[in-house]
Amino acid sequence: MSFRSWTDVRGHTAQIGVLRRICASQQPAHAYLFEGPDGVGKRVVAWALAARLTCEAPNDVSGACGACRSCHALQRGEHPDLTLLERDGVSIRIGQVRDALKPLRFEPVLGRAKVLIVDEADTLREEAANALLKTLEEPPSRTHFILVTARSQLLLGTIRSRSQTVRFGDLDSADIEAVLIAEGADPSLVAMAAPLAEGSVSRARTLCDPKWLAAVDRLTTFILGLGAGDPLRVADAVAGLGRTLEGLTLHESPDDSPLTASPTATAAEAKALATAERKGGQPATVKAAPTAVVTQLKGLDRVGLRWALDVTRTVLRDAMLVGAGVPVHTLPLARHGEALVALSTRAEPRAIAAAIDVCLAGEAGLVLNPNARLALEAAWLEIDRLMR
Ligand SMILES: [Zn+2]
Repeated sequence: MSFRSWTDVRGHTAQIGVLRRICASQQPAHAYLFEGPDGVGKRVVAWALAARLTCEAPNDVSGACGACRSCHALQRGEHPDLTLLERDGVSIRIGQVRDALKPLRFEPVLGRAKVLIVDEADTLREEAANALLKTLEEPPSRTHFILVTARSQLLLGTIRSRSQTVRFGDLDSADIEAVLIAEGADPSLVAMAAPLAEGSVSRARTLCDPKWLAAVDRLTTFILGLGAGDPLRVADAVAGLGRTLEGLTLHESPDDSPLTASPTATAAEAKALATAERKGGQPATVKAAPTAVVTQLKGLDRVGLRWALDVTRTVLRDAMLVGAGVPVHTLPLARHGEALVALSTRAEPRAIAAAIDVCLAGEAGLVLNPNARLALEAAWLEIDRLMR
């Protein structure tokens, strides 16, 4: 991902409105904290804000103009004033933070400001977070930080309190469909995948594979039958799910929206950029675009377990909604209407809530439980008992 403008962002109208107004007021904050679920487009907005803050000729509609030297540099993915800090392995280390903070001591080379995007800011190790905090407390002039996270509760309170928080909600189905169709996905698959994606583009991207849609369907049928059959079949279902998931590809965040075309820089622009960099007397910071995380499942591994618990939770939640009087045809799992009604009749709302807690506990225990098969079997057996 490189250049983004406000008009590239799907949904999140209120958030964009706030950021537009802040930018237009000429008093943008030093630090923003973008928090909200994975896969809804927080990073797209972060890049659009970075482009707007560094643009030499911003406007009220698109934010960044898309035509100045700064915007062209972003389009090439090599803006000297913009740095992306993202985890190396499981965390962001202090050395990475120090390297990312160094260029902030200098004046902006090209644009009007320097921007540091910290992706998955919750993965900052403690000493790395403290190093960043020091700079947040006394930010260099014309410097902006954009921290992106789906788990802001894991951030230092002092970092949170020094940042202006922008909260992001789920994307609606129509926005997800628009994003995926713009990426070239099959519209008939998108129509089935988007409503099941729980507001997440990356989840919808995964589901645009007929094999995944079939897997969700089979799993939904199984979950809706819990409490109505022989508990022994739970073990068979776990084994069967392992075979189903083998080799399937799962898209996880970073989230994304349709990629804009990146025009190639003209020779004159390249020369202007090189000159500007020399004048600045500092090396250009190379910004790699966040790459999509794509995992190929090896049967029922931890990723598969998390997915299975997630689907289980979604199905149970829909059953709960049906029990509370929500019309079946309005739910993503409408085609399982009869079974949803049957489950919501069979099980007390309190029991369904307890079953949802079992899923959440299973997801929270993922780190501790090395055996995904056993963990899923235990969770489903418990839910089976609760649904009777
Ligand atoms: Zn521009």
